[in-house]
Amino acid sequence: MLMSHYIDIMKKAGVKFTRPRKLVLDALQAAKQPLSIKEIHKRVRNKADLASVYRTVNLFQDLGIVREVQFGEGYQRYELIGEGQHHHYVLCIECGKLEDIDICLLDRVEKMTNFKILSHSMEFQGLCHSCAG
Ligand SMILES: [Zn+2]
Ligand SMILES: [Zn+2]
Repeated sequence: MLMSHYIDIMKKAGVKFTRPRKLVLDALQAAKQPLSIKEIHKRVRNKADLASVYRTVNLFQDLGIVREVQFGEGYQRYELIGEGQHHHYVLCIECGKLEDIDICLLDRVEKMTNFKILSHSMEFQGLCHSCAG
């Protein structure tokens, strides 16, 4: 997804595209996987403090720029919403390795039930090849 798409969403909502907001967007886009608040903070290399990363992510959630992804780790991760951004993952509970899997049942569930699905999650935990060995 192009950066301009997210800038557009902010513009329409009357939200300024500030430096911390740019840093958080850049971090999420570069990561290509869901990040926790702490991981985002690490990636912006202290150019924005933890509280402002937290506020920015909350704002992005309200604006529909990011969504929460749960892995049962006791904290939330966040991924950008947009074409090519949505994946499901398998997480190694030993080393933390994340791999995306090319399956999403969202369209099928909507067709099957006639529901407008607002959120869903389908994450897997296990042991990766090197940790299982
Ligand atoms: Zn592992
Ligand atoms: Zn999905």
